[in-house]
This record gives sequence, structure tokens and C-alpha cells, in this order.
Amino acid sequence: MSAAASTSTSAPAANSGQIITQPPPPSTLRESRIATHSHIKGLGLADDGTAMDFSQGFVGQKLAREALGLHLSLLKMGRHSGRPLLLVGPPGTGKTALALALSQELGSKVPFCAMVGSEVYSGEVKKTEVLGSCFRRAIGLRIKETKEVYEGEVTELTPSEAENPLSGYGKTISHVIVGLKTVKGTKQLRLDPSVYEAIQKERVVVGDVIYIEANTGAVKRVGRSDAYASEYDLEAEEYVPLPKGDVHKRKELVQDVTLHDLDMANARPQGGQDIMSVMGQLVKGGRTEVTDKLRKEINKVVDRYIEQGVAELVPGVLFIDEVHMLDMECFTYLNRALESPMSPYVVLASNRGICTIRGTEYDGPVGSSSTGIRAPHGLPVDLLDRCMIVKTALYSREEIRSVVEMRCKVESIAIAPEALDKLSTEGENSSLRYALQLLTPANILSKGKGRSQVEVDDIAELEDLFLDAKRSTGVLKGLEDLENKY
Ligand code: ATP
Repeated sequence: MSAAASTSTSAPAANSGQIITQPPPPSTLRESRIATHSHIKGLGLADDGTAMDFSQGFVGQKLAREALGLHLSLLKMGRHSGRPLLLVGPPGTGKTALALALSQELGSKVPFCAMVGSEVYSGEVKKTEVLGSCFRRAIGLRIKETKEVYEGEVTELTPSEAENPLSGYGKTISHVIVGLKTVKGTKQLRLDPSVYEAIQKERVVVGDVIYIEANTGAVKRVGRSDAYASEYDLEAEEYVPLPKGDVHKRKELVQDVTLHDLDMANARPQGGQDIMSVMGQLVKGGRTEVTDKLRKEINKVVDRYIEQGVAELVPGVLFIDEVHMLDMECFTYLNRALESPMSPYVVLASNRGICTIRGTEYDGPVGSSSTGIRAPHGLPVDLLDRCMIVKTALYSREEIRSVVEMRCKVESIAIAPEALDKLSTEGENSSLRYALQLLTPANILSKGKGRSQVEVDDIAELEDLFLDAKRSTGVLKGLEDLENKY
């Protein structure tokens, strides 16, 4: 294992090869992609598996929701065995929303990673590397650690105690000096990490008397007692825990990370993980690449944790939208990754019918070029065969109206009923996504005019400013016709 990989901040104790299990701060990029679905809370199914008209943020698309409900039962029974789900349907018919709802039904700690097929085409990173990192974002690891934690009973300080903090000493654990290092002869007091952090923030030093609030764990410095410090013959720079009271409890702490988090934490060179040191490492090019070798080493340690019962794997959902944008190399990778015992549940989506499988076309000698193999949804037959295929259908005007109304509530946008009707018509003529996209700009327009709600003419104004797909292709078609004419 690399030097970086062998550092540990909070790895479970029972192992030799340690890996960093403290995840770096999550990237907000992918989260913002999911924000447009913040009204979706689940599949909205009744106990018998039938889709309710309007439930958990979902409207319509009943057949697809019921099919996903059944698929969910298979997953829960551990019967997915490398079988991906393929959602096919027109743009904006809720394919991403369905995949997200599936992951929500699996539990709040189950990771969800959404990617678009075309994401793999980057000049700098290999296609399979992009896919690989998305796979690992969708595989969770629940690490269980038994720790001694602070659970002392805390009472409020009376005003006189606050003035003379030591008078309350002994009565509650809150009035004592706590510290970061053990001093010979005193007993180590392990504190709840949040309290510990607060103590560090407050710069508590030897001799300080602090008060820990019972409910919030907030730490307040309430005074000093140099007498107490000298009683224990403390060295000036040492911080001490209190050797009193039965406040230790063994508690099982659970930490949820993804394999990608572990990759990133272990690829980062040793040193601070605060924003400044991370930036420094980037500038100096100090960041270690996440190599296959590093991933294999992490996998080995993860396997050992699982064997020891210290950790358990939590398969999440990997959603690959526009799967027809992947090429043969990616499909080969995908087929192999689906077989792995560390595979997440994979949901693919496409809004294409028959199209060319990317990577099968070639330019040979004159006359021998090929336009490639054409197949349903641009997927190779072997992968298509493995998929359970579910279709999504276009929405009715009423369904579009309900979704738009729901988004207005989520985004706190006041809208006149006539404007809502107009947006529903837009959605019906164009797409649900187009109608939803007009919402926020309409709100900005109406506010700019000093209105308290979005009105019909705000929507009408936007129609001229932003085209839907049909009208934009119409514009170009018109230009082409003109060019051909002259
Ligand atoms: P594309 O093919 O372009 O990727 P998609 O089928 O994945 O589109 P989504 O992105 O899921 O479509 O849907 C567009 C928007 O409409 C999202 O904000 C989504 O949450 C919302 N939406 C779609 N269907 C429903 C539904 N049945 N109920 C509630 N909201 C929906």
C-alpha cells in the first residue's frame, strides 16, 4: 500500500493494512444535478405495490413506477444478479426521477450517482476511468466502530456557579477541565467527536473550566482554575481529561462512506485536508492519481473489514442517462463491472430508438468505411439481453400541471392559475422539462415588474426569449431551406 494510503484518521482498529476512512467534503456538482428532483421522495406506491395517483412527489407514469416497485423487491431479495434496469422513453418523462426514487426506496444512506453517457469523453481522463469512478461513487461502505464516548449527565450552571465555576465541580461533568492529551496517572476520557471538536474550537487549555450544554453539546468557557491545574501537576502545554465520574460508555458509531470517498482520501498526499492545504497540493501537483493499483489495495482492505464484521457493503444506484452515448469499450467495461460482487444496482436510460452502437463504425480504405452496427437504443445485444426494460410515457396536460404546481411549491414561486394553465399547455406542446425550465426565469421577470405572482404575460414573454426544441430546429430548418434555394 502506498504511503498515502497507509495513513489513518479513523480506521477501525482491528486491522493491519489501514486505509483512510474519513471522506473528503462531498462534491456539490452532482448534488446540484439532483436538485431539480428535490420534490421526489420515493416511488409513491401503495402497500400492494400499485402506484398512487399523486404520492411522494410522483405524478402519473404508473406502469413504470409499478415495474420499478417489483424490481425493488428483487433487489431487496438480493436477486438482481448483475441485471441492469433500462428505462426507455421520450426526454423529460421522468427516467432520472424514477432512478432517484428507486434509490430513495432502498434507504436514505444508500448512495445515488447520476451520470450522462457523454461524460466519459474527456480529453484528460480515460473513458473507463470516468465510468469506474462513477461505479465507486455508487457503492457505499458502512463502517461500524465501537468507541468509548462521553455521556455524562449535564445540568445547568446556576449564576453563582457560573461566577465561581469550581463550586459546581463534582456535581456535573460539565464543569471540568477536559483536554486532548492524557497525562500520566490520569484516565483518558473519550469524548463524543462533536464535543471534542467544539472544545478544540474554543481553544480550551489546562485550567479552563468549561460548560457543555446537555442538548446541543455546545461548549462554553466559563472561567479558569489554576488551582485545579496545579493539583494535577500539569505541564503547561498539556491538556488533561478529568479522571472522575462514570461517564464512559461503549457505543457503536456508524460511518457511511462510498468507495470513491476512500479512493479520494487515500489518493491525497499526507497533510492537512483543509481547503488551503488541498489547494496547495493541487497547485504543487502533489495529488496522487487514483490508480487501479490503489483501488485494488483499498478493495482488499474493504474485503478484510467485511470479513471481520467491521464493515458492510451498501450497494447504491448508478444511473447512466443517455446510455447510447457510450461506446464499445465502455460497454465491455460495463459488462465486466456488472459481474463484480462489488457492483451497485445499475439503471440505464435512453431516449433513442434504433441507433448506431458507438465505436463500431470505422473509416477503412476508400469504399470500405462502415456506418457501424445499428441496434435498439445503441446497446450491444448481449447487454440489451441482460436488461430489464421499462418504458416511460408522455404526460397528459393535467399531469404536467400537477408537476409544475409541485415545483412552484418547492421553489416558493407564487403563480396565477391562468399562468399555470399556460405553462401546462407549453409542456403539452413541447415537453415537461421546457415548462419546468420557464418557471424560475418567469419568477425573476414577474419580481422585476414588482408583481406578487407570475402572470400569463410573463410566460408569453419567455416564449419569445427561450425556444423549445421544436421551434429551435424549425429556425435552422428554415435557414437550410433558404440556403438550398439560393
Ligand atoms: P431525459 O431523457 O432528457 O434525460 P428524463 O426522462 O430523465 O429526461 P427527468 O429529468 O427525470 O426526465 O424529468 C424532468 C423533470 O420533471 C425533473 O425535474 C423531474 O423531477 C420531473 N418529473 C418528471 N416526471 C415526473 C413525475 N412523474 N412526477 C413528478 N415529477 C416528474
